[in-house]
Amino acid sequence: MNEELEKLEANAVAAIQAADSNSELQDVKVRFLGKKGEIGKQMATLKEMPHSQRKAFGKALNELKGRLINATEEKKKELEEKALKKKISAESLDITLPGFRFPTGRLHPLTRVWHEITDVFIAMGFDVVEGPEIETEWYNFEALNLHSEHPARDEQDSFYLGENRLLRTQTSPVQIRVMEKMGAPPVQIVAPGRVFRRDATDASHSPVFHQIEGLVVDKDITMGHLKATLEAFNKEIFGKDILSRFRPDYFPFTEPSCEVAISCIICGGEGCGLCKRTGWIEILGAGMVHPQVLKNAGFDPKKYSGFAFGIGIDRVAMLKYSIDDIRLLYENDMRFLKQF
Ligand SMILES: [Zn+2]
Repeated sequence: MNEELEKLEANAVAAIQAADSNSELQDVKVRFLGKKGEIGKQMATLKEMPHSQRKAFGKALNELKGRLINATEEKKKELEEKALKKKISAESLDITLPGFRFPTGRLHPLTRVWHEITDVFIAMGFDVVEGPEIETEWYNFEALNLHSEHPARDEQDSFYLGENRLLRTQTSPVQIRVMEKMGAPPVQIVAPGRVFRRDATDASHSPVFHQIEGLVVDKDITMGHLKATLEAFNKEIFGKDILSRFRPDYFPFTEPSCEVAISCIICGGEGCGLCKRTGWIEILGAGMVHPQVLKNAGFDPKKYSGFAFGIGIDRVAMLKYSIDDIRLLYENDMRFLKQF
C-alpha cells in the first residue's frame, strides 16, 4: 500500500475516533466513503494508472474501504451504547438520597382554642351557629337593651359602614337572630366569631378579636344551670382543679348579671403577677337573659327564661399558652406560630 493510502487511512481512523455523535460520524463517512469522498477520488485515479499497478492498488483500496466501513460501524455501536448509558443514568433514581421533607401546616393558636371551646359545648349538647359580621343597630344594640344613650353606642367605639350599619362589636346579636329564627324554645347554642371595636392597639387591645356567645332558653332555666355549665366549661378548658367564682356585675342584656373568674392557673390562688395578687382571673361575663331581650326576639318572658354568656377566645388563648401580648395573635410571625 502506498504512502498516500496509509496517510488517508490514518486520517480517516483519527476522524472516526474523534466523532462524538452520530451526526459527526455521518459527516466523516461522507468525507471518506461518500461518492465524492477520499476513497472515491482514489478510485478515479485507477483508470490513469499503468495496468501493472492497477490490480494491486485496486485491491489495497478495496481493503482499505472495508476497514473504514468496519471502523465506522464499530464507532456507531460505541456511540449508541454511550448514549444509552447516559440516558439510563439520567433517568435512574438514587434511593440513597435523603427524602424531601414537606413542611406541615398547623392550626393558628386562636383556631385551636376556638375548636377546643366549641368542642366542650358540643359535648354538653350545644349547637354551633354563626352570625353576620356586618350588623344593624337593632341587632347589635337595641334588641340587646343597649339604647341610644348607652355609652357603648358611642360612634367612637364602633366601625360604622354608613347609616345604621356597622361591624358587630360583640357576638351577642347572634342571640337575637337565633331566637327569631327558631321561633320557640328550647334554644341551646354557642356562636363563635370575630368582633370589631375602635380600640387603639396595645398589648391587651386589638381592633379585631374573637368572642364566643352562649345562649340557653327554655322553661325553668335558672342561675343554677348557668353556674353548672360555666363551672364545667372552666374545668374542661383550664383543668380539673380550677375553681370558679361568680360575682354580681352589670350588662344591659342580662339581669341578674355576673362576672366569672377562675382560680389563678399559675399560683392556684396564692397570688402572683398574672392574677395581680388576687388569686383570681376574670374570664367571662354571663347572666340571666333580660326579659326585654326575650321579648325583643319574640319569646314570652313569662313562660321562658334563659342564660347567656360571652367568652373572649383571644383571652382564653393568651391564658392557656401564656401569651402576654394580643398583637402576637395577629402578626402572623412564623417564629411565634411555629411554637404551637
Ligand atoms: Zn396567680
